[in-house]
Amino acid sequence: MSSIGNLFARTALLWALALPTIGSAGPTAIVIHGGAGTIQRANMSAEVEAQYRQTLTTAVSAGHQVLVRGGKSQDAVIAAILVMEDSPLFNAARGAVLTNQGEAELDASIMLGENLNAGAVTGVKRVRNPILLAERVMLASPHVMLMGAGAEAFAETQQLALVDNAYFHTERRRRQLQQAIAKENGVAIIEPSSDSHERRKYSTVGAVALDQQGNLAAGTSTGGMTNKRFGRIGDSPIIGAGTYADNRACGISATGHGEYFIRAAVAYDICARVRYQGVTLEAAANAVVHGTLLDMGGDGGVIGLDPNGEVVYAFNTTGMYRASIDTSGKLDVGIFR
Ligand code: ASP
Repeated sequence: MSSIGNLFARTALLWALALPTIGSAGPTAIVIHGGAGTIQRANMSAEVEAQYRQTLTTAVSAGHQVLVRGGKSQDAVIAAILVMEDSPLFNAARGAVLTNQGEAELDASIMLGENLNAGAVTGVKRVRNPILLAERVMLASPHVMLMGAGAEAFAETQQLALVDNAYFHTERRRRQLQQAIAKENGVAIIEPSSDSHERRKYSTVGAVALDQQGNLAAGTSTGGMTNKRFGRIGDSPIIGAGTYADNRACGISATGHGEYFIRAAVAYDICARVRYQGVTLEAAANAVVHGTLLDMGGDGGVIGLDPNGEVVYAFNTTGMYRASIDTSGKLDVGIFR
């Protein structure tokens, strides 16, 4: 064979060897939420709506970029959540709701569908990005969940950015706290029109991603509920309630009235239905969100992905801030029902 022919044969052989690798890169998908609740178009200005849509698009695109470059689903989840944690629009990190004492107390969790590894933190007050701490708990500690001051001490050992609690406070959340306390005391307060789209809204953030290796990951981050006290913890940092991922079934992140989501083990129940009943993720999510939860009186919603990257949103409220980029690369951003 001539040297050119030789070169051609070798190139063809290399291509043949490379093809299975290229061919094995599976589809990717990502879905995010920024909370569910009584969100109505009539009560939201075009300007506020545009801000939410813009930030949701930035967040979902940040996660998708990680996936198309061959990155891991856990990194995609974190990239998307970081955008929302750093935005004052959502109830997570900067912009978190305030406790009865006027502080931000933050919760976050992350789980990997590949090996059921998980990390969570609750009641942290100084960690700038709680989702990064949840990831460190999963990767660099033998534990699943750390709380309060201990979690913050661990954050220091991981060189994570710490901030003063005031960094998380926004004027809007201060007003919401005042209103909640006044309501508790039977005092009616006229809410400013700029807040009227916020009535009974849970604006926790979350993301679920599927990477080219076929691994699912899910994460959630929140400030919990306005006017919470006595160290109240919701569903968001609880694996199985607010977050769950299992490659054999699905990845889920939830938002809503946490007490109900804990009691119904929402995220796990949805994945268990997929795994043991063999129903679709959509059927499982609808059964839990529109059946179990509604029967109990729990409002909220979930986002999810199945192992093929099928995107699911289910919410029993009038709206849920949400966005996805599906396996065909199509972007979808939604707020209202
Ligand atoms: N699920 C959160 C909690 O109960 C609240 C939310 O979704 O905004 O803490």
